[in-house]
This record gives sequence, C-alpha cells and structure tokens, in this order.
Amino acid sequence: RKHGGYRSVEKALKTMSPDAVLEEVKKSGLRGRGGAGFPTGMKWSFLAKPEGVPRYLLCNADESEPGTFKDRFLMEKIPHLLIEGMIASSYALGVNTAYIYIRGEYSWIVFILEKAIAEAYAAGWLGKNILGSGFDIDLYVNPGAGAYICGEETALIESLEGKRGNPRIKPPFPAVKGLWQCPSVVNNVETLAAVVPILNDGGDEYAKIGIGRSTGTKLMSAGGNINKPGVYEVEMGLSMEEFIYSDEWCGGIKRGKRLKACVPGGSSVPILPHFLVTKTAAGEDRLLTYESLADGGFESGSMLGSGGFIVYDEDQCIVRNTWNFTRFYHHESCGQCSPCREGTGWMEKVLWRLENGQGKLSDMDLLVDVAKKIEGNTICPLGDAAAWPVASAIRHFR
Ligand code: SF4
Repeated sequence: RKHGGYRSVEKALKTMSPDAVLEEVKKSGLRGRGGAGFPTGMKWSFLAKPEGVPRYLLCNADESEPGTFKDRFLMEKIPHLLIEGMIASSYALGVNTAYIYIRGEYSWIVFILEKAIAEAYAAGWLGKNILGSGFDIDLYVNPGAGAYICGEETALIESLEGKRGNPRIKPPFPAVKGLWQCPSVVNNVETLAAVVPILNDGGDEYAKIGIGRSTGTKLMSAGGNINKPGVYEVEMGLSMEEFIYSDEWCGGIKRGKRLKACVPGGSSVPILPHFLVTKTAAGEDRLLTYESLADGGFESGSMLGSGGFIVYDEDQCIVRNTWNFTRFYHHESCGQCSPCREGTGWMEKVLWRLENGQGKLSDMDLLVDVAKKIEGNTICPLGDAAAWPVASAIRHFR
C-alpha cells in the first residue's frame, strides 16, 4: 500500500464504471502476453452476458512453454500485482468468482499466492462489498497436475472442472461457454498484471509506451548461451541486437562465442538463424515487437510468443535441439487428434535417428511432409507448436 498497491482497484471501484475500465484497457492496446498476442480489450468485449448466469475470470498461470519463466517471477516476487489486476479485471467483466490455474510444478508458488490472497481478504480487497461498492469477488488458486496442454484455455477449463485436460473443439469459445458452460475469460498472468498500470496511468499513457500496435512493456525470459540470463522487462520496440548484446540486458554471448540462432518466443515458435536475428530479410532492424518478429512470415520471421528467449551459440546442435523439443511435444500431446498424436511421435523417431547417425537424406523431406500434415489439422495449437520448430529448423539449417 505504501508503494501504491491496490490504487487501481480503489480508482476503478470508486470512480469508474465497469465499461469505463474496459474502455481504458481497449485504449491501452494491451495484447495477451501468454503467446497469441490477441487484443485484451477485444477479448473482454466478446464475453457473453446472459441474465442470471455467472461469469468467470480464469488466470492462466500454467506457464509450461520451454524457455518461459516470466510468470513464475511475477507470482513469486509480486503476487499482489496479479491479485490487484484480477480484482480490477473482474470488476470490468462483471465477474464475482475468479481462479488462478497454476502449473503443478510451481508448487511453492501456490503457497505464496495463497498467503497473498489471505492478506488481501484480511485487508478487505477480496470478499464481499469491496470498499463499500457493492462489488463482491472471490479468488481461488487451483494447481494443475503437470500437463503442458492445460495451458491451452479450453484444456485449462476442462482440468479446472476436474476432468482430464483435453482441449475442446471450438466453437463455442470460452467467452460464450467456458467454465461450467458459463461465459469465461482466460488471461495470462502478465496480461492481468498489466491492467494495474493501465488503470493507474490511463490507457492512453500506456499506449505511448512501445511502438505501433505493440504497446507497453513485455517480460522476456532470457536464457541459453548468454552472459546474463534472467527475466527482463523491456519496452516493446527494443532492438534484438541491443537486447542480446547490451550489458543492460543479456550481456552478449557467453565466452565470446558467435551467435548461431535464436528462438525468440518459447519453444513453439520458428527458430531464427543468426543472420535473421538482428535484421529482417528486408534489412530492417529486428525489434522486440509482435510485428517485427513476424516480419517475413515463416519464411524468414518468427513470433514474439510468450517471450521465452533462447539464444544458441555456435557450438549448439540444431538437430539435437529440434529432437529435444519434438520429444517434449510428443510427450505432451493429449492424443485426441491423429495428426498430433502420431505425427509428433514420427517426427521424434526420425529426428532421433538423424541425431544418432542413422539418418537418410530423404528424412529431411519426410520431416517437412509430416510437419505440414500436422499444421492446421488439429483441435488445438499444440499441433502447430510441434510442427513449426521442425519445419523452421529444416528451412534454415537443412
Ligand atoms: Fe490434443 Fe494435440 Fe489435438 Fe491439441 S493438437 S487436441 S494436444 S492431440
């Protein structure tokens, strides 16, 4: 409270209508920080509001994308920022019950969150009639049981309902039929935390940070062969060159080695070879924005994704890395769709034999063929997430 905590809730409940809060979030240009980058205000405005039916806000804290560890940092170090963002967001959405679905492996953070939630209840920020406004909000923490797929929003909902975490066929989308078949919004931890500065300073002020349609700041989980791995909050639009080489950020490649490649947004986004990391194919500076990272499409671009930034030096093996990612997706496939269930297994086998000296030249084309047959042919994006790293690795490192 001494540092301005819960100011946004006070402001929203005492001086703003729920629609005015939604309007500020729209004005801010905030886009989902979990990976898809969908505009948050627009997602909120899709929420169905049938009379007499409860609505739910679900925080996606199932952070399981290899290379991504930013939400962990937020929840460990400043859990009240997330709680504050969730209260303000619930007010805007007309939600009286909210959940934080957290990955099971973050077992110690469950206690951190529960302690913070108890503090918020004790201080009157959660519960009945917050600040005498007539607004009620209850918040619960629900740990998952160790499945990557539960980060997909409909699998998360299934799991929260106590079922096996299988993604649902859409439509209907969660905004219409989500938790317990009621309208629900699923937002990432960082997205909900960003609502706090948006309300404190106003959506227009927030939109001044960043570049173009990539507004605000982004948490990057930087890892791999860099001198200073860690979680960094960057203003959108920072150049990739500065982010990798400046001492303020990653501090350059370890032991003075050369850069070989970079996965900028978590294991599921296309890998970039060194010559496309700091410059686009058109020779422009590559920036940490949704647009710049996607520049060139999948031919020569990638995605900002979840901000899981993995840097590879010249000694790293792309074959082994691709096999490792594929092994992960094969293991995490829920098995509902044949292209994903079988295709990830085939790709893992073929990559294993390449890695172990038993590959055939035709395996390159076979991998591309399998990846193409998975992409776009599955219920949820895990299929694409498994196909893109393989297809891009062969495109750039054939
Ligand atoms: Fe399950 Fe894979 Fe199909 Fe997603 S794409 S629903 S993980 S089988």
